[in-house]
Amino acid sequence: MIETKGYATHDTNAKFVPFNFARRDIGDNDILIDVQYCGICHSDIHQAKGEWGNSTYPMVPGHEIVGNVTQIGSAVTKFKVGDIAGIGCFVDSCGKCSSCRADAEQFCKVHCAATYNGTEMDETTPTYGGYSKHYVVDEGYSLKISPDQPLEKVAPLLCAGITTYSPLRRFKVGLGTKAAIVGLGGLGHMGVKLAVAMGAEVTVLSTSPSKEADARALGAHYFVVTTDPANLRPLAGTFNFILDAVSADHDMDMYLKLLDVEGAMVLVGLPENPISARAFSLAGNNRILAGSSIGGIAETQEMLDYCAEHNITSDVEVIPITEIETAYDRTIRADVRYRFVIDMATL
Ligand code: NAP
Ligand code: ZN
Ligand code: ZN
Repeated sequence: MIETKGYATHDTNAKFVPFNFARRDIGDNDILIDVQYCGICHSDIHQAKGEWGNSTYPMVPGHEIVGNVTQIGSAVTKFKVGDIAGIGCFVDSCGKCSSCRADAEQFCKVHCAATYNGTEMDETTPTYGGYSKHYVVDEGYSLKISPDQPLEKVAPLLCAGITTYSPLRRFKVGLGTKAAIVGLGGLGHMGVKLAVAMGAEVTVLSTSPSKEADARALGAHYFVVTTDPANLRPLAGTFNFILDAVSADHDMDMYLKLLDVEGAMVLVGLPENPISARAFSLAGNNRILAGSSIGGIAETQEMLDYCAEHNITSDVEVIPITEIETAYDRTIRADVRYRFVIDMATL
C-alpha cells in the first residue's frame, strides 16, 4: 500500500481535518498521480453535508483532479512518468456492459466506482477523492492533459467542463441556437464559455446582479436578473435550449415557460429536494425536460482536447487546503468567481 494524506470530514458538519490513509499498490494498468490541484465542486458540498442521503464517512471529497504521473504499472501505454493526468468523477466500471461499451461508463450496469464517497469494483473498499496528495487509478479511467494550459484552471474541466459540454453536444447547441444558462457558478460559467465557443447566442439567467460584468466578460450576449419576474416576461417562448445549473431548490415553471417550440431544458444542477413542474409548462410548445450526468471517458477527453484547442479554461480562486470550509460557505452563498481550486502544495 502507498501511504498518503488528505483532508477528510467525519460527519455532516463538513469540518475538514488532516487524514492519513493508503492508496492501493500500483497494478499493471495503474498510474500514480501526484495531485497538484483539485477543484471544489458543489457536489462535494452536497455529499460532505449528507444532502443526497448517500454519504459515508470519513469522506475525502474531490473529483476535479490534475497532477503529475510519478509511477506507472508494467502494462501502461497511455502515460509515461512526467506526463500530466486528470481524474474526474469516477475511477472504474465493468468495461463490458452496454453502457460501458457505449462510452457511458458513468451509467455502468454493474458498478461505477465514484472517485470518492463510493467503493471500488469490489463494492466494499471505500474510495477517497482528490483533496489528497496522491491517487492510484487505472490508466483507462484517467485523462490526458495538455501541459500548455495552467493546470489550476484545467482542474475544474474534469467535472464542471464535461457536465456542461455533454448536454450542449447532445442537444446540438451551436450557430443559430438561442441558449440560456441558469446559475452562474462553477458549472454555469463553463456552460457560458462552451456555448459561446460553439456559436450559440447565450443569455445568463442569474439571481446575482453583481455578476453581469463577469457574464459579459465570459462571452454572454445577454444577462437577466431572475429575482424580478417582470424581467422574464419578455423572454417567454424564446430559448431553444436552457441549461439549469442551480444547486438549490428553485421554481422550474419560471424557466420552462421561456422555451420556444421543441425547446429543451436540461437539468445538471442536483438540489436536495424533488422538483415539481406544471404539466402545462411542458405540454405547451412541446417542451422537453431532460437531465444529464457528467460524461464518459471518451467524451471527457474530447472536451479536454476541445478546450485546449479553443483556449478554454475555468476562472478560479486558488486556495490553501486549510480554507476548504470558507470556500464551502462562500460557494453556498453563490460568492465564488467561479471555481475554488485547492493547491495541493499546501497540504
Ligand atoms: P455553484 O458553483 O455553487 O453554482 C450554483 C449557482 O446556482 C450559483 O452560483 C447561483 O448562481 C445559483 N444559485 C445558488 N442558489 C440559488 C438559489 N437559491 N436560487 C437560484 N439560483 C441559485 O455550484 P456548481 O459546482 O456549479 O454545481 C451546480 C449544481 O450542479 C450542484 O447541485 C451540483 O451538485 C450539480 N452537479 C451536477 C453534475 C451532473 O453530472 N449533473 C455534475 C457536477 C455538479 P447565480 O448567482 O447566477 O444565481
Ligand atoms: Zn462535480
Ligand atoms: Zn459497465
